[in-house]
Amino acid sequence: MRPSVLNPLFVEATKLRGVGPKVAAALDRLLGSPSRPARVVDLVLHLPISVIDRSTRAKMRDAPRDQVVTLEGRVREHLAPAKANAPFKAVIEDETGDCTLVFFRNNASWIEKALPIGSTRFVSGKLELWDGRLQMVHPDRVMDADAFATMPLVEPVYPLTEGLFPRVLGKAVEAALERLPDLPEWQDEPRRVLRGWPTFAEALRAVHRPSKPGDVEAQAPARLRLAYDELLASQLALALVRNQQVVDDGVAHVPTGAVSSRVEAALPFRLTGGQRKALDEIRADMASPRRMLRLLQGDVGSGKTVVALLAAASMMEAGAQSALMAPTEILARQHFARIAPLAGAAGMRVAVLTGRDKASERAATKAGLEDGTIDLVVGTHALFSEGVTFRDLGLVVVDEQHRFGVAQRLTLAEKGRAAELLVMTATPIPRTLVLTVFGDMDVSILSEKPAGRQPIVTLAKPADAMEDVVAAVGRAVANGARVYWVCPLVTESEHADLVAAEDRFRALEEYFGDRVRLMHGQMKGPERDSAMADFASGRASVLVATTVIEVGVDVPEASVMVIEHAERFGLAQLHQLRGRVGRGAAKSFCLLVYKSPMGKTAEQRIDMMRDTEDGFVIAEADLRLRGEGELIGTKQSGLPNFKLALLDVHGKLLEEARREAAGLVADDPQLLGPRGEALRVLLHLFERDAAARLLQGG
Ligand code: ADP
Ligand code: MG
Repeated sequence: MRPSVLNPLFVEATKLRGVGPKVAAALDRLLGSPSRPARVVDLVLHLPISVIDRSTRAKMRDAPRDQVVTLEGRVREHLAPAKANAPFKAVIEDETGDCTLVFFRNNASWIEKALPIGSTRFVSGKLELWDGRLQMVHPDRVMDADAFATMPLVEPVYPLTEGLFPRVLGKAVEAALERLPDLPEWQDEPRRVLRGWPTFAEALRAVHRPSKPGDVEAQAPARLRLAYDELLASQLALALVRNQQVVDDGVAHVPTGAVSSRVEAALPFRLTGGQRKALDEIRADMASPRRMLRLLQGDVGSGKTVVALLAAASMMEAGAQSALMAPTEILARQHFARIAPLAGAAGMRVAVLTGRDKASERAATKAGLEDGTIDLVVGTHALFSEGVTFRDLGLVVVDEQHRFGVAQRLTLAEKGRAAELLVMTATPIPRTLVLTVFGDMDVSILSEKPAGRQPIVTLAKPADAMEDVVAAVGRAVANGARVYWVCPLVTESEHADLVAAEDRFRALEEYFGDRVRLMHGQMKGPERDSAMADFASGRASVLVATTVIEVGVDVPEASVMVIEHAERFGLAQLHQLRGRVGRGAAKSFCLLVYKSPMGKTAEQRIDMMRDTEDGFVIAEADLRLRGEGELIGTKQSGLPNFKLALLDVHGKLLEEARREAAGLVADDPQLLGPRGEALRVLLHLFERDAAARLLQGG
């Protein structure tokens, strides 16, 4: 139940003075949603994006042009329009000069009343020079001395919608602000004081009634405080949900090291420091009676799969089974092919299960999972959708999570309720977004690449130079290189794109004969598998593919990546694609073939690709270039929308809020302590009601 102290904020905006049906309709469009109208709280939390500064005062002779100024003068004359459509003018003067006020919407009686000849008036608006004379077209304000004395010199500017005038919205916000109840302080008081943060009410007033332009800037103390309030509410909600899950469902899975040490011994390489650290964290989570909810984040090629395998080996030691879930069949089979020999060497029993298995194999796998003779199963979401039962499922690893939709995430949570959960993502989501997308998870990061990797040389070529590109690829193939050639699927008609890929395939076939293969999403599974297998084994040198290879495909011998129409891809996607090469010891190349002329953003993307291979740098740039909502995968993942916090500016606060929320819930899981009541108010204020309901009497 919402604390009653918040009631005045959760009434409809129509209850406010000055908000009639027409204004209300505009406010609903701006701040409401299909299921509810705009409310007082929405207005209170609708922050200005900038200000109009009316504090610049000057004599007419010295007044700066082309900006907003406030002038004081005596009204000298009215110039009635000569023709019907001509403007009405009034001239005001001071001892240094004069200024013509121009009114196009001819309303003589209003002007005569507002600007009587001989009176002293203050006018505020944008000053211009026209035909050698100062003029102000439609001053924003025309005031006498009394009105001027109470005029705010700095005026907030709000995001608007059609049919809503700035002053009308400003008044509605002001009326809403007057209804702000006295709320308890939910922030830690000593820290608030230490940082010079105002109280919640003071902060809102400071932002809605700025006294200087800096007051509405994102770094202003009031804005920081408000952003932190919102972030703390969201992180507290996640922490409460998580606490519930972890406490309810946890099982201690204590690994012995017996199996995983054998797997490790079978590896043809040594683990990186990051892989080791991630495994330590995973094993500690497993051994604790709390349920693991961990995100393993690692750039493409950082070696996540082997971490998953070793985690599964540890789970086997603890006597339970593991499932590794891949987003596509190709990937599931590839994982299985790589994992099976290593696992087999350590005595782990592994199986694969996708939608494509033969009935007999499938039945055998299902039986093995049910009686516990299979220790690790690799598969697609078929694992969880088609009546598969496990004897004791201890660990679920989800690879490339961003390909899974929300619905699948939910089924997964149902099926593997008691299981430890490890989510692996190669999408280099910036730290700030990890917390909002996966905020309820702990994070392990693989920041270093395995040793011996060489940098990838990235070049951009115009499509006109296609012959050069083909010739360069020809030389590489002659030297034994293996080449991915990516044709995008981007137009409305998938069919037209396939035709493009097929055309390219035939053109390259003329050049390379039977050393080219084609792979795309419409092909039947076995055909795709055989194309992939030929490329992996080296029977083929060039693999022409649509973006089906974007996620996870691993052929360490591939060293050249050609991307056609590179200008059509987003940065994150280009990075994922490029990550398919540079995995072995050979020097690798990435050729970005673009069609000119390119748009500005496309050019910036391609420059960025040439400048860096660092997935995190690229992801941050992607965020800037595209806006956070468009970052691959975040749209489907139910990213919360913040009203007050700006993730690019307030990202640090987000991490802080997460830490504080975890501490608060650890100390006082039911929020019953002295701060608890105020924190409940905070949760409801930001409408985290679902989380608040987890609390006793919440
Ligand atoms: P990703 O993180 O993109 O899923 P993979 O798990 O596919 O990366 O690993 C990429 C390649 O690096 C694979 O060929 C894998 O065998 C290899 N690899 C993984 N860890 C190491 C390591 N510590 N040293 C050398 N090579 C490694
Ligand atoms: Mg992978």
